[in-house]
Amino acid sequence: MAHAPEMPEKYVCTACQTMHAGTVSKRTDSGHQYEAPAECGCCGETELIPEKSWPHFQP
Ligand SMILES: [Zn+2]
Repeated sequence: MAHAPEMPEKYVCTACQTMHAGTVSKRTDSGHQYEAPAECGCCGETELIPEKSWPHFQP
């Protein structure tokens, strides 16, 4: 099986829309498991959503 380079999951701050790389919460056989950063490093907002959910996000 080919090894695809692992891309960290990304999270979008709902306040300033800055993209943040997820924090590694667990290491698994297939890679890493990510969780949203505790807070946005730019504005301090604590609600960050996965990048793939962003297009569906309704404030
Ligand atoms: Zn922010």
